[in-house]
Amino acid sequence: TLAPELKDTGPEKLLAPVLSAFWDEDKSWTLDVYKRHEGYEGLHKALAMSPDDVIAYVKESGLRGRGGAGFPTGMKWQFIPQGDGKPHYLVVNADESEPGTCKDIPLLFANPHSLIEGIVIACYAIRSSHAFIYLRGEVVPVLRRLHEAVREAYAAGLLGENVLGSGLDLELTVHAGAGAYICGEETALLDSLEGRRGQPRLRPPFPAVAGLYACPTVVNNVESIASVPAIMNRGKEWFRSMGSEKSPGFTLYSLSGHVARPGQYEAPMGITLRQLLDMSGGMRPGHRLKFWTPGGSSTPMFTDEHLDVPLDYEGVGAAGSMLGTKALQCFDETTCVVRAVTRWTEFYAHESCGKCTPCREGTYWLVQLMRDIEAGKGRMSDLDKLNDIADNINGKAFCALGDGAASPIFSSLKYFREEYEQHITGRGCPFDPARSTAWA
Ligand code: NAD
Repeated sequence: TLAPELKDTGPEKLLAPVLSAFWDEDKSWTLDVYKRHEGYEGLHKALAMSPDDVIAYVKESGLRGRGGAGFPTGMKWQFIPQGDGKPHYLVVNADESEPGTCKDIPLLFANPHSLIEGIVIACYAIRSSHAFIYLRGEVVPVLRRLHEAVREAYAAGLLGENVLGSGLDLELTVHAGAGAYICGEETALLDSLEGRRGQPRLRPPFPAVAGLYACPTVVNNVESIASVPAIMNRGKEWFRSMGSEKSPGFTLYSLSGHVARPGQYEAPMGITLRQLLDMSGGMRPGHRLKFWTPGGSSTPMFTDEHLDVPLDYEGVGAAGSMLGTKALQCFDETTCVVRAVTRWTEFYAHESCGKCTPCREGTYWLVQLMRDIEAGKGRMSDLDKLNDIADNINGKAFCALGDGAASPIFSSLKYFREEYEQHITGRGCPFDPARSTAWA
């Protein structure tokens, strides 16, 4: 959250603290504190409407999925068939693991009831009586806090039988995953939740048609669901008053890397990195921005030429990247781009589930080439080979993991080919490792 000394100065007027409004308050994660901040008021409003009207309301708000892809949330809910006689499920994807992305985990830690309230509203809307939260297992303190919040909600009649006298019966299960990046992919997550090895399923059918236990399932990101209570309580017009026509509302940006004040910044969609850096004290003193990612390492990187790109789906898309998870990793001039991309590529190779050949084999070969180039053992022909291998993964892998691995290769070669060439002609890294703190 914003440093106290910055709170009363200029550019932070652009901040829109909703989900993060009371993160600094004592025991912010408890039901008592949540209720003091409009907690569960959105639910009361939703329960006074019909389920179909709730779906239409969320659709009209323009809320788009905050997990990265930006799929319209209300539309996803509308896909759930009604009167089909099958159970419907809501599964919250809390397996946040895109490099640089750190918004859902802090949100769950500081304000878990916003998610629980959103879950009750969503289940009422899609007529589901069982919801699951699939949480990254490593974050044990968050898991404990979430369990405690769920217990509080059951005790207060916000979960369980006949929620607040509405006739809705709702069970909520918190499930801890075992820390595989692939289990954040929605269909691999469903397999993992069913007790199988987490590997992606072929889509279609999408989970809305055949998801958990082959039943219609909504899989939504934590932030998407947690944003719903405020929309129901303050109104869709309020939500639409922020951001742009096609990307409305507020959102959480994760700012990390060589910045003066890394952290989570909640602001309207369409804000620029320049504005976010103004609010956060800029790059670390004496240094300048070299490259950055708009939405984690799987989104093509940007350079200092892109500081004024509006951070919404359309703006970032038009500039040649993807908004993704809004994970703004900023690197200054001390960072070797070849080294950074090598580390990311190693991550994707390690996390590839091995189900499809382009990703399993391609990420392996990308790592071999990147390591050689970084160590000064590369050849000029390796640069075309890198592009060629990435091209054979991109769009040809079973799920988005492969595209994510290809994207830093393409974009780093596009903007920093010279730096690759320097590693090859100079037979080593031109950066003095002692001078670079990026990987210290
Ligand atoms: P996608 O665009 O294929 O799908 C997005 C969502 O819309 C899914 O829930 C999907 O089921 C639904 N959907 C799409 N078309 C549909 C249709 N015709 N009918 C019904 N439902 C439909 O994207 P994806 O492959 O699910 O995810 C890729 C995104 O994941 C990337 O944008 C990336 O930024 C993000 N990501 C996030 C993290 C993280 O930690 N949050 C990690 C890795 C990747």
